[in-house]
Amino acid sequence: MGLKLRLGRFTWSARTWIVLGVLAPIGMLITSGVMLLDMRRDAWDKAEQTSRNLLRVIERDIARNFEIIDLSIQGVVDGLNVPGVRDVSPELRQLILFDRAASARDMGVMLVLDENGDTVIDAASVTPRKLNNSDRDYFKAQKARADLGLYISAPVVSRLLGTPVLVLSRRINKPDGSFGGIVLGSLSLSYFHRLFDRIGLGPYGAINLYRSDGMRIVRHPYLESDIGSSIAGTPTFERFRREGSGSFVGTSPRDGSERHFAFTRIGDLPFILNVTLSAYEIEAEWRGKALVISLIVVLLCGLTIGLSLLFWRELRRRAAIQAELERLSRTDMLTGLPNRRAFEEMVARLWTSARLQGTPFSLLVVDADHFKRYNDRHGHAVGDRVLQGIGRCLSASLRRAGDIVCRVGGEEFVLLLPNADGAAALGAAERVHARMSTLSVPSAEIEAGAITVSVGVASALPSAGGSTDPFDLYRRADAALYAAKAAGRNRTCCAAPEGAAHPPAAPHGVAD
Ligand code: GH3
Ligand code: MG
Ligand code: MG
Repeated sequence: MGLKLRLGRFTWSARTWIVLGVLAPIGMLITSGVMLLDMRRDAWDKAEQTSRNLLRVIERDIARNFEIIDLSIQGVVDGLNVPGVRDVSPELRQLILFDRAASARDMGVMLVLDENGDTVIDAASVTPRKLNNSDRDYFKAQKARADLGLYISAPVVSRLLGTPVLVLSRRINKPDGSFGGIVLGSLSLSYFHRLFDRIGLGPYGAINLYRSDGMRIVRHPYLESDIGSSIAGTPTFERFRREGSGSFVGTSPRDGSERHFAFTRIGDLPFILNVTLSAYEIEAEWRGKALVISLIVVLLCGLTIGLSLLFWRELRRRAAIQAELERLSRTDMLTGLPNRRAFEEMVARLWTSARLQGTPFSLLVVDADHFKRYNDRHGHAVGDRVLQGIGRCLSASLRRAGDIVCRVGGEEFVLLLPNADGAAALGAAERVHARMSTLSVPSAEIEAGAITVSVGVASALPSAGGSTDPFDLYRRADAALYAAKAAGRNRTCCAAPEGAAHPPAAPHGVAD
């Protein structure tokens, strides 16, 4: 019983181990999953921050540059309105009208056009370069509206420089308020390229500058076909225009890939600036780390589960060995029958259940007659075979499923017959003698009928009191066996009811 309990605990603890061995990796997987998601969110937060910082830096630079050019243009417009300025010598007029900003690197040209679009003043030359720009959109726009203020054109190729520029212009009003021409300053698009080039965005990132009507002024990385194209009406641009500044994750209209868009207006200028980062790049660093971490975690989990399973298998193997040892410790090796130890456990158990159920219980002690002679005459090995034969005969004599044969000593056996009264027990003893009469060992020339046994029978009704324990019943059966031996062997003797003297036994019959 104690051993069984220990075995039970052993199996329970083994189960606990295997459950832990599986739960621990699951916990590890969940934790690392949460960690990886957290790291991914950090990567996106970092991208968001980077985009915002870029927007701020670029926006400031562009706003400042346009302000400088506009201030120069306004300076020329105001200067031309000062009486007498138009009449001074061209050299002096150059000095009065154009400050040094007009010669800044990205400032293309700075011109004054008359109401017909002809150049009348040129910041770069005292004698203005000949040109008529009356066909340009900015000229027409300024001519059409007196209150237009600063107008920024679409990208155009400068007629004087031959390179793409943006043209900023302001209108000159004659004293009577009628159109008197324009002052224009151009900004080379190379300014934007240089500005954006300084920013390392990665191969999949992009910076776009749009006019608020959706026309793309410049893109980095540079693609000539992009310049002057319009994305007005696309959901992305409509969102830029509606929200003014912000960020969102969406799909690129260009290639359908997932991207992070950050955008802002540039001061009061009619521009929208947008920095786009690719989701693939944002997650690139994270992906590398996630791959390594996932591999390690999966490996560790696999290892833990594998070791747990190995451990579980080893525990089961040991439990099986222990159970087998347990079985062997209760089995007689020669006959394969339960041994004395098993007999003592079983008889106690059967006795108790007979007492509780109020059923009779019988016990037969069977002892080989003159067994010593077989050993002496044929040798110990033949003696062993005779014992095996007796075991087989006894097993074959049993009728009911609950009946048990045990080998309790050298050539002594016990039959346990639960729910069997005296008459049933005598019937069993008869069957034993009948079976024994058929046992032979041809190799040792022992013929059928030569091997006999004596049987002592005792029965009891445990619930009625009387025999107080099963060993008392065994003692009575043993005494009956002694009587059977004394009466000449090869017979059965029944134990007298408790307290009575033992009656004589009869050969092949029963004495009571
Ligand atoms: P009785 O009719 O009075 O029982 O005589 P017996 O010779 O059977 O009884 P005894 O007790 O004198 O002898 C029993 C013998 O059984 C002694 C022993 O050598 C033999 N024996 C006990 N165990 C084994 C065994 O496992 N194998 C063999 N071959 N002989 C055994
Ligand atoms: Mg004997
Ligand atoms: Mg004996």
